[in-house]
Amino acid sequence: MREGVRIGEISGLVPEGDTIHRMAASLRPRLLGRAVRRLYLRERGDVPEALGREVRSVEARGKHLLIGLEGELNLRVHQGMNGRMRHYAASAAPAGGALPLLIATAQDAFAFPRASQVELFRGKPERSLALARLGPDLLSEAVDLEAVVARASAPRNFGREVGEVLLDQRVAAGIGNVYKSEALFLCEQSPFVPIGSMDRQALQRLYTKAATLMRANIARDRRVTVKLAELRDRPAAPPELWVYRRGGEPCLKCGTPIAMRRQGEAARSTYFCPRCQKVS
Ligand SMILES: [Zn+2]
Repeated sequence: MREGVRIGEISGLVPEGDTIHRMAASLRPRLLGRAVRRLYLRERGDVPEALGREVRSVEARGKHLLIGLEGELNLRVHQGMNGRMRHYAASAAPAGGALPLLIATAQDAFAFPRASQVELFRGKPERSLALARLGPDLLSEAVDLEAVVARASAPRNFGREVGEVLLDQRVAAGIGNVYKSEALFLCEQSPFVPIGSMDRQALQRLYTKAATLMRANIARDRRVTVKLAELRDRPAAPPELWVYRRGGEPCLKCGTPIAMRRQGEAARSTYFCPRCQKVS
């Protein structure tokens, strides 16, 4: 594959809602109102029907990126476990080949070398099954947190542990493993209690906290949830996260070693402080 000179790259993090919103924000000024000169999908090759269509919208829906073209042709991208996106001058764009997705205008080209799902479809975004079943996007300005809490506390979730439900994109879109662990810690909430035993205020606090943490990181290329003023001690190099990937290290609030357990059907890692979050 010919590899041109890269102008920029967004990478390094397992994508959660903040990453995809940041990606959408960086794409908008270079795609909106521009005509597509090339759309390449590994599964289909070049897509002639996209040529010449103007890009009408670029948005994040939870962990999905949605690019809307003139004539209700939509492109949905899910980055899986790697949020890499590369930006090239159109003249230096790679050929395509093994790339899951490449989209170019007359000026710029964007490659998604690690996208795990790329879907091209006609019609409203809800025509995509993956988008139709998403809960409200926690980072959208109009997000209705009461609706999110109602979804979380639906009877089918009563027996599920709160740490598992937070990751359920049908309840609220955007939270991944990092913000799950961080929000639970900051709300002093055990990840392992069933939803049915929690009150609505506690659930609303959790989703509000997760949304606030993600929103604070949209403009950054690193995830930071720790506020120095809230630390018990001030280590020389303070960690950026309270608990995530800090298994065995002292809790920054009480000194107890941080623990990790696998949770839910997908056995996702949940980091927590047994003392602050009252886990026995
Ligand atoms: Zn603690």
